[in-house]
Amino acid sequence: MEKNCVVIGAGPGGSACAALLQNKGFKVTLLEQNKFIGGKCSTFEEGGFKFDSGIHMFATGPKGPHGQVARELGIPQEWLIRDPSETIWLNEKGFFYLYQRMRSNKALKEMVSAAISGKQRIDIINTLRRSIKNFGVQGFIRELSGVAKAHPAFIQKYDEMTTRDFLYLFTDDPTIHRSLNCLSMLLLVVPYTKSSAGEFMYVVSDIFRCGTLGVPKGGAASIPLSFVKAFLRDGGKLCLGVGAKEIIVEEGRVKGVLGTDGKTYTAELVVSNAGLKKTVEMAGEKNFPKEYVDYVNSLELSYSWIATKFALNKRVIDLRAPSFFPIPRLEPERIFSYCDEPDGLPEDPFLFVPIPTEWDKTVAPPGYQLVLCGVATSREVDQEERSQKMLEIAEEKLFSFFPEMKKHIVYKKRITNKDTNRITRKGTAECIGLAQIPGQVGVNKPHPKTPVENLWVVGCDAGARGVGTEQATASAMLVSNLVW
Ligand SMILES: Cc1cc2nc3c(=O)[nH]c(=O)nc-3n(C[C@H](O)[C@H](O)[C@H](O)COP(=O)(O)OP(=O)(O)OC[C@H]3O[C@@H](n4cnc5c(N)ncnc54)[C@H](O)[C@@H]3O)c2cc1C
Repeated sequence: MEKNCVVIGAGPGGSACAALLQNKGFKVTLLEQNKFIGGKCSTFEEGGFKFDSGIHMFATGPKGPHGQVARELGIPQEWLIRDPSETIWLNEKGFFYLYQRMRSNKALKEMVSAAISGKQRIDIINTLRRSIKNFGVQGFIRELSGVAKAHPAFIQKYDEMTTRDFLYLFTDDPTIHRSLNCLSMLLLVVPYTKSSAGEFMYVVSDIFRCGTLGVPKGGAASIPLSFVKAFLRDGGKLCLGVGAKEIIVEEGRVKGVLGTDGKTYTAELVVSNAGLKKTVEMAGEKNFPKEYVDYVNSLELSYSWIATKFALNKRVIDLRAPSFFPIPRLEPERIFSYCDEPDGLPEDPFLFVPIPTEWDKTVAPPGYQLVLCGVATSREVDQEERSQKMLEIAEEKLFSFFPEMKKHIVYKKRITNKDTNRITRKGTAECIGLAQIPGQVGVNKPHPKTPVENLWVVGCDAGARGVGTEQATASAMLVSNLVW
């Protein structure tokens, strides 16, 4: 007999999970409070441009969870991949390009020349000395190979250490610390003083192991939309603009969902993509053991990114890679300290600058260039004035590299934490979900099964590892394999 299931929320996690469960024979109703699909991974069309609601690059593209789910569901996803994929500005020597196929001659040449030239060159001798002092020669080689292979046991060994402390075992070189702090904020949306070293190694190794970092054709929403396409093909029921008001629980067991449309959606299984904290709230704290409620309330959320999106009437930025990341020249630990200060502003911001049209010409009218410029911030929603100032500082820095941009802007759009909150309606604007910090990753990541029978959580708050959307989709694979 088919089992009735309600999935709450059509972010990447919810839409992948709904599609996988429907494909496995469940009778699934997917409730989404917004009138669009994708949650924080959605795309909007305006003036001939396709703007992602956030700023998205996909770490492992077709080889990662999104591609795996698409293959399992038998639906196409068109990926656009470029190598080199990143342009880094590290020092006065100028740009260097980061290749995904690290062992290629070109990639090694770029890395070596960036490491040994310029004022901020990497002190290789000191780095080797420190690493060998801590691990011995054989141990050092073993650790390096552990980082490269990202074997689960190796990753787990470092889950409970911060990325900063892990790095200090090998080097105190400020250029390496600066760069990896920026990478931690970019991939995990937590500074390296807080992020889990195990989780950080997992995501970085995966990028280079897969070598398929990229974007889907047509904008970020193409991913959840492809899952929903399979869901509808297999007979799933989609209710857009219907939120879950309450998760109905009787005698410790889930019975269904009360929708904002006043209807009761009876179900033997409920999977929530609304975030762990909100799920407990909707199901009623009284239905969970007190220790579980205290545990959920104590979990920390990630930081956030805000951005300006520039439409240019010609291709102004002409780089070999489709994204640009200038590393600030600050003390490594000061780069993101402004995020935690009330009214703090970046002295020299780290910028996240993807150029979507360099991957995908279909996201802008012919001849136009779309440039996004992101800056990291805290997760509080109520900081609009500060956000606008941050974006102005970020813009000035971007123009200092590409002064021609100013003359060619035909359209400019900003997104801040209030826009992220408008999508999730959580009252917080974290980019990811739970912060990937010691105590909240690996074996300590919340399990997707909750203490209420047949109530599960899917998405970035439950079960999986990885970068943003990929973590959410990986969680969907896990949940769809574990339920029933
Ligand atoms: C500015 C920005 C930049 C980012 N950059 C990247 C990037 O480069 N790469 C990357 O991989 N990730 C990136 N992310 C993160 C990524 O978007 C999220 O991690 C991912 O979307 C989380 O997926 P999810 O399925 O867990 O939840 P969400 O995307 O948050 O989706 C949850 C869904 O549930 C719905 N919902 C919530 N409550 C209810 C309810 N009561 N009833 C019905 N529906 C409900 C919401 O409307 C939403 O659609 C970025 C995010 C932001 C904001």
